[in-house]
Amino acid sequence: MFNRAVALMDLPPGLEEKIRVCNATYTVRFGVRLRGQIHTFTGYRSVHSEHMEPVKGGIRYAMGVNQDEVEALAALMTYKCALVETPFGGSKGGLRIDPREYDEHELERITRRFAYELIKRDLINPSQNVPAPDMGTGEREMAWIVDQYARMNTTDINARACVTGKPLNSGGIAGRVEATGRGVQYALREFFRDPRDVEKAGLSGSLDGKRVIVQGLGNVGYHAAKFLQEEDGAVIVGIIERDGALYDESGLDVNAVHDWLVKHGGVTGYPDAGHTAEGAVVLEQECDILIPAALEGVINLQNADRIKAPLIIEAANGPITAGADDVLRKKGTIIIPDMYANAGGVTVSYFEWVKNLSHIRFGRMQRRQEETRHQLLIDELERLSSDRGLGWQLSPGFKEKYLRGADELELVRSGLDDTMRIAYQAMREVWHGRDDVDDLRTAAYLVAIERVAASYRAKGL
Ligand code: NAD
Repeated sequence: MFNRAVALMDLPPGLEEKIRVCNATYTVRFGVRLRGQIHTFTGYRSVHSEHMEPVKGGIRYAMGVNQDEVEALAALMTYKCALVETPFGGSKGGLRIDPREYDEHELERITRRFAYELIKRDLINPSQNVPAPDMGTGEREMAWIVDQYARMNTTDINARACVTGKPLNSGGIAGRVEATGRGVQYALREFFRDPRDVEKAGLSGSLDGKRVIVQGLGNVGYHAAKFLQEEDGAVIVGIIERDGALYDESGLDVNAVHDWLVKHGGVTGYPDAGHTAEGAVVLEQECDILIPAALEGVINLQNADRIKAPLIIEAANGPITAGADDVLRKKGTIIIPDMYANAGGVTVSYFEWVKNLSHIRFGRMQRRQEETRHQLLIDELERLSSDRGLGWQLSPGFKEKYLRGADELELVRSGLDDTMRIAYQAMREVWHGRDDVDDLRTAAYLVAIERVAASYRAKGL
C-alpha cells in the first residue's frame, strides 16, 4: 500500500526508503513469578519514525503479537498522526499474552514489569514515547503504567503525560474511551456530506436507515455502532463476535447485545436475534456499510470477492489485506482506510497529552465566562422585547442550551469532529483531484507521506 502511493510521488532519492523502514524495535523478555513458578513473557516496542517526538502508539495484549505486526502497526501510526495532524512520530508496542488467562492482580504485576523495562529505556516517556491502549488493554493498564512511571521518576512534573487513555482520576480526559468509535461516526458523517462520495459507493441519501454490519463489539465497535444507531438512525443488522454472529434485518439493540456480551463473554444465547456460529460468513451478507472493528486480515483473498458491502470503514487496524484491497477496489467497493477511520483515538490522546502538560482541565477557565456573556445577550434581548412591547419569546429549550458553557467532553468532541472533517477533506481533495488516484487509501497515504517528507526536508535530511 505504501509502495503504491510513493510510486505516484516525486520524493528525493533515498527518502522513500528512509520513511518506509522502522527506525528501531526493542524486544524484551522478562520473567514474573506467578502461581509458584516463573513465567517468561515477550514484549516489543517499535519506533517507526521520529520525524516528530514524542512518538505515539498503543500497547496491544494478544497471543498473535510479533515483531512484524508491531512494526507494521508502528508505521501506520506515523501516517495516521501525520494525516490527522497530531504532532507525533509513530510507535507501537505489544505483549504476547492472552490477558483472559490471568486475574487482575497477575495482570497488574505483568504490566508493571513490562512498563518498568520500557520506562528504564525511555520507551515510555512524556517527551519521547507515549503509549496508549490497544487491543486487550484499556484504562486499567494505562493507570498501572502511569503509576509505575511516576514511581520511577518521582520529580518529573509531567509524569502523567507519559501515557494516554488513562482513567479520569489518573489524569485522563473526558471522551477518550469513546473516542475511536466516535471518530468512526464522524468519519462516516463527513463521507455522507458529499453526494459525490456517496454516489461513488452506489448509495444515496444520509446515514439514516443505512444497514450496518459490525465485526467486534469491543471498545471501538461498540461505540461506533451505538452512536450510529442512537444519533444517526443507522440500523445495525449484524454483529460478529468471536463466538459467532447475530443477525436481524430489522435491527439489533446494540446496548442490549453489549450488556449480554459483557455478562456472558460472548453473543451465543442472546435471545432477540438469530445466531450463527460461523461468524465470518456474516461479513459477506448484504448491507450498506461494513465496519470491521476487531482484528487484522479478516477480509482477505479467501472472502474478498464475496463481500457485498459497497462501503467498508476500517475501524480496526489492517482488517483488509493488500490482496483483498486490490480485489475490492476493482469491484468498486469504497474503503475508508484505517489510517483515517480509527484516528479518533490518537486525536483525543493528543488532547489528553496536552491537558496533562498544561495541568488544567479543558474549559476550566472559559466556561463560566462564556455563560456570563451569553446571559448578558439574553438579558438585553429580553429587555428590548419588554421595553418596546414586542412580546418576543425565545423558543423552548433555546435559552438553556445557549447559556450552557462547553465542558471538557463537549470541547473534546468538537475538536475530534473538526479533526476528522479536515483530515477527510484533505483525502477527498486528492481523491477527486488527481486522475491517478482512485481510492481513499492511496489518497490518505499521499497526504500523510507528503507531510512526513516535508518534515524531513525541513530538517535538511
Ligand atoms: P477490544 O479488545 O476492546 O475489542 C475487540 C473486540 O473484537 C472484542 O469484543 C473481541 O471479542 C472481538 N473479537 C476478537 N476476535 C474476534 C473475531 N475473530 N471475530 C469477531 N470479533 C472478534 O479492542 P479495540 O480497542 O476495540 O480494538 C479493535 C481494533 O481497533 C484493533 O484493530 C485496534 O488496533 C483498533 N484500534 C483501537 C483503538 C482504540 O482506541 N481502542 C484506536 C485505534 C485502532
